[in-house]
Amino acid sequence: MTKTVEQLHASLINDGDFLSLTRSHEWHMPAFEFEVVGAQYNTKVSVLDTGIIVFEPQTQTTKDVVLSCAVHGNETAPIEICAELIQQAILGNITLSQRVLFLFGNPAAMNIAERFVEENLNRLFSGAHSEDGGLKNKERIRAKDLENAVRDFFESGGSDRDRKHYDLHTAIRESKNDKFAVYPFRHGKPWKTTELSFLKACGVSTILLSHSPTTTFSYFSSNNFGADAFTVELGKVRPFGENDMTQFADAKRTLKALITDEDMQLTPFDEHDFSIFEIDQTINRTKENFVLHFPDDAKNFTDYPVGYLLATDGDIEYHVRTEGEAIIFPNANVALGQRALLTVKPTKL
Ligand SMILES: [Zn+2]
Repeated sequence: MTKTVEQLHASLINDGDFLSLTRSHEWHMPAFEFEVVGAQYNTKVSVLDTGIIVFEPQTQTTKDVVLSCAVHGNETAPIEICAELIQQAILGNITLSQRVLFLFGNPAAMNIAERFVEENLNRLFSGAHSEDGGLKNKERIRAKDLENAVRDFFESGGSDRDRKHYDLHTAIRESKNDKFAVYPFRHGKPWKTTELSFLKACGVSTILLSHSPTTTFSYFSSNNFGADAFTVELGKVRPFGENDMTQFADAKRTLKALITDEDMQLTPFDEHDFSIFEIDQTINRTKENFVLHFPDDAKNFTDYPVGYLLATDGDIEYHVRTEGEAIIFPNANVALGQRALLTVKPTKL
């Protein structure tokens, strides 16, 4: 039974459970807004669509923060973190001190506990949703809607603001470096060490520097709005309710501190605290006969000796070329033309 806007509103202010409302509206939800009354100031809350909610404290703020999760539907731990922050903010248990846009990327994929329904959402940003056949499925339309939500959020905040976008994920496979972040290509602008200190406080000390434009959500915000943006991988995928939330405690505490102006407990940047990598080879699957030559359960950041045969794509062979070169995000079952494997190599800032 479809609920009226009044019923949606009543339900949300009663239990603060925006995640459940989102999951019961897979692709769209009517917009509505309300205010949370606070001790010092009120906070305007705008539900813009399913999985899209903005908090605007009615006081002086300096940051516009986007926290996105469920761009891959089965990556549950970050969803639970965001759902809890949203709930606490609506119920008045925490008071936000910065403008925040929360996004649950792909509710329909969440409901089937899959990465995506038809197409990987995190390959559809920066306009990729409208190329190669255009807006031909719901994920492509969703990518465009999410882009619009981020654009409206940053632009309505104004240009001289501190813009952040942390796109929160968990990886499909175990990782030697359990948590890591991809720092999108900055077109020659310097990498920001203060941002790396923030990530370290979140428990993330492995950083992967990207050297080319991509169709990910974080690159979209970085490139279009000058946001400090990252794809943050917080551990391994598990079903809802089965996450060991102690693993995510640092991330949760630091993200909460960021938006409530508590002390984030940042430590000064020291390169020795980090493992920094850059992308070396991007290996696409172009043939039906595509094989990865390492165990199915190989962990992200596993390295192999120089010369090791990593993959064959029909007749083409891909070998390890550099000392310390390691695999990341292997997936032999991607569609033809898609990325099946990245390799990374150690680097310095
Ligand atoms: Zn993901």
